[in-house]
Amino acid sequence: MKGRLPSIRVGVALGAVMLGAVVFGGECAWTSVSAGAAEKPEMWVEVRSPHFTVYSNGGQKQAQRVAEQFEQIRAMFAQAFPNVKVDPGQPLIILAAKNEKTLKALLPEFWEQKGRAKPAGWFQPGQEKNYAALRLDTQGDNPFKIIYHEYVHLLVRLNYQGLPTWLNEGLAEFWANTIIGDKTVRTGRPDENHILLLRESKLLPIDVLLKVDHGSPYYNEANKVSIFYAQSWALVSYLMLDEKMRQGKVLTRFLQAVNGGKDDTEAAREVFADLKKLEKTLESYVRSSQFYELEIKKPAEIPDSEY
Ligand SMILES: [Zn+2]
Repeated sequence: MKGRLPSIRVGVALGAVMLGAVVFGGECAWTSVSAGAAEKPEMWVEVRSPHFTVYSNGGQKQAQRVAEQFEQIRAMFAQAFPNVKVDPGQPLIILAAKNEKTLKALLPEFWEQKGRAKPAGWFQPGQEKNYAALRLDTQGDNPFKIIYHEYVHLLVRLNYQGLPTWLNEGLAEFWANTIIGDKTVRTGRPDENHILLLRESKLLPIDVLLKVDHGSPYYNEANKVSIFYAQSWALVSYLMLDEKMRQGKVLTRFLQAVNGGKDDTEAAREVFADLKKLEKTLESYVRSSQFYELEIKKPAEIPDSEY
């Protein structure tokens, strides 16, 4: 049984929050998924919305739902962060796979190697087009998490350079847990699965976390990725929402340093100062009894006629 974690809402202090950047290669999202059953070959449909093109073998309705979610999360960022670039010069093509079997056909390399973590979502930047691939049959309390996670990778790529993997994935996880309601958007919500995993695991030493890259076991091995994603989320959540961190603009300063070309290990030492202290603080943060989340006014929806 998983307990529910209490959370309280705060108005978002937009000026203090920024989005961070990109790395080359693809970035993943991981989630709990159900096993796929054998299927007949099926048609792929194309749905175009004002800013995205979705291809899916899950049917027209599902494809439109994915396009709507991408449009909504895009509109949220465009409204909340007027200075953040939200549209790439090249189109974003989204491949919405109805199940694991389809995603495996799209990204076979993840299934070929034993013990390699299998993603539920994938973002691949390209010179002419950007691609995102995701599974439609994922489970969990927020079915759109993967969509939001992949869109954040796109934003990060558009706005920053040279971010370390923990920050890229941590930002994607932080913003991924967004609920778009009738009037408001709630985002940066505490992720129960991450918190519960972190509470029952030994955390990675902070210097290990900060150095994980795309070649690291923590980014690739099935039994290691969960703790890396959870801890990256926790660190970003702490840096974004803790009052002292916000006042000191710690995350903004780190982003500016690495975006300006500073080596990220050096930037971490400079901006976070005492890494051992940060490690201890992070341990207590995941054991907090209360977490903050952000509340933003819901942006206007795109009418059906525009799909
Ligand atoms: Zn990712």
